[in-house]
Amino acid sequence: MAEHVVIVGGGFAGIKAAEALAHQKEVSVTLIDRQNYHLFQPLLYQVATASLEQESIAYPLRSLVQRFGSNVRFRLAEVTRIDAENKQLITPQANIPFDKLILATGMATNDYGTPGVDAYAYELKDLDDAVDLRSHMLMAFEKAAMLDNPEARSEWLTFVVVGGGATGVEFAGALQELVTHIVSRDYPEFDVQEEVHIVLLEAMDALFTGYDEPNQEFTRKRLEKMGVEVRLNTMVSGVEADRVLIKGDDPIATRCVLWAAGVRVTPLVESFDAPKARQGRIVVTPTLTVPDHPDIYAVGDIAYVEQDGQMLPGMAPVAMQMGRYAGEALLARLRGKEPEPFHYADRGKMAVIGRGAAIADVLGLNVRGVIAWLMWMGLHIYFLIGFQNRLQVMINWAFDYIFFERKVRLILRDTETDEMPAIEDGATPPLEEGEVVAAR
Ligand SMILES: Cc1cc2nc3c(=O)[nH]c(=O)nc-3n(C[C@H](O)[C@H](O)[C@H](O)COP(=O)(O)OP(=O)(O)OC[C@H]3O[C@@H](n4cnc5c(N)ncnc54)[C@H](O)[C@@H]3O)c2cc1C
Repeated sequence: MAEHVVIVGGGFAGIKAAEALAHQKEVSVTLIDRQNYHLFQPLLYQVATASLEQESIAYPLRSLVQRFGSNVRFRLAEVTRIDAENKQLITPQANIPFDKLILATGMATNDYGTPGVDAYAYELKDLDDAVDLRSHMLMAFEKAAMLDNPEARSEWLTFVVVGGGATGVEFAGALQELVTHIVSRDYPEFDVQEEVHIVLLEAMDALFTGYDEPNQEFTRKRLEKMGVEVRLNTMVSGVEADRVLIKGDDPIATRCVLWAAGVRVTPLVESFDAPKARQGRIVVTPTLTVPDHPDIYAVGDIAYVEQDGQMLPGMAPVAMQMGRYAGEALLARLRGKEPEPFHYADRGKMAVIGRGAAIADVLGLNVRGVIAWLMWMGLHIYFLIGFQNRLQVMINWAFDYIFFERKVRLILRDTETDEMPAIEDGATPPLEEGEVVAAR
C-alpha cells in the first residue's frame, strides 16, 4: 500500500515537495494549507503599493494539485499541533494521520517584543496584509486632503518603514514612486514634494546586510535620490497610534508604520519539540529530517541549515530546492537508497529598489541599475505560477512603467473611516447636493 505523505504548507517549499512526489505510485500525498492558494510573497509589496491586483500573485492550490496527478490531493485546514509520537496532525476539523511528514509552514513577523507593533504597525506577510496596508495608506491621503493645516496633515503624510531588508527597501522604493508619480496627480490638495515623507529606519549600519558594501551603498543612495529618508543605526523602541518611538532620539509623528524588521517561526513550529536555532528555526539533519524523527522533514524558511559556515537565508530559491530535495529523499528512502546530504546550489540573489534600479549578484556577476532591474523582472515573471498571472503582471508593469498608471488605487478595507477628520476651512469644501467635483 502507498505511504501517506502529508505536506503542511503550500508555499515555495511545499509545492516543490508535492511536485517531486507527483505521479509516484509508492506515495499518496495530502497537501494541507490554511489558505487555498499559493502566494508569491516577493511581489506582495506591489499589491500594497497599488501596482498589482492581489489575484495576480496568488494561485489556487486545487488547480496546482490537478497538475500533480491523482496521487496528490489538497485539504484546506490549519494545523494546530504536531503529534509526532502518534504520527498525526491536529486540526480543528479532524486529526490527520501520516506515515511521512514534510513541514513547510514558513515564517511569521517577529516584533522582538517591541511595544505597540502588534496593535499599531502593519506587516506584509499575506494578501490580507497587503490590501489592509494599501487601503490604510490611501485613506491617509484622503484624510490629509480634508485638513487645511500642513502641521495637522503631516502625521497622515509621514510613512515609516521599519527594517532595511528586502521587504522594507522594496516597499519604501515602490511607495516613493507611487507618491512621486501618482499621488502628486491625485491630490492637488497638498504639496506632495514638500509634505509627504517616507522614512526608512534600520537598526544596523547598512541596508541589505546580505549584500556587499557597494550594493548597500548603491541602494541607500538610490533611495535617497528618489526622496526616501534613510536612517541607519536607528532602533525603534515602540509604536503608538500616532508616532514611532526611537531609542535616544525624537519620536516620529506618523499614522502609518510598516514593520518589516524581522521574522520568526509560527506558533505551530514553536510548539513542536525539536532542536531550534535563530528565529526559532528547526535545526535539521543533513538530509533535512528533524533529529530523532526520521519520518519528519522540515524545509523552507523554518529549517536551520548551515552551508560554508553561514545560515542559508530565508529565500524562495532555498525553499524550493529544499522542498524538491525532501520529496526526492523521501522517495529514495522508500526505494531503499540513502540520499546524499542536501546542498544548496546558490545561483545568486537580486532585489529591486525602484524603476530602473536593482541589484543582482548572480552566477558571480555583480550587476546594478537597469540591467539588474530587467533581470529582476524577467526572473519574477518566470517564477510566477500560471500563464494568466504572468500576463496580468506584465500588463500592469507595462502600464506602470510606460504610463505611470497604477489602477489598483482602491480602498477595499474599512480603515477607521469613522475617524475621518472634519473638513477644515480652506481645505476642499464639502460638496453641496448636486455639485460637481472641481479640482482646486
Ligand atoms: C514581503 C516578502 C518579500 C519577499 N521577497 C523575496 C524576494 O524578493 N526573493 C526571495 O527569494 N525571497 C523573498 N521572500 C522570502 C520568501 O518568500 C520565503 O523565503 C519563501 O516564501 C519561503 O517559502 P516556504 O515554503 O518556507 O514558506 P511560505 O512560502 O511562507 O509558505 C508557507 C505556507 O504554509 C502555510 N501555513 C503556515 N502555517 C500553517 C498551518 N499551521 N497550517 C496550515 N498551513 C500553514 C501558509 O499559509 C503558507 O502557504 C519574501 C518574503 C516576504 C514576506
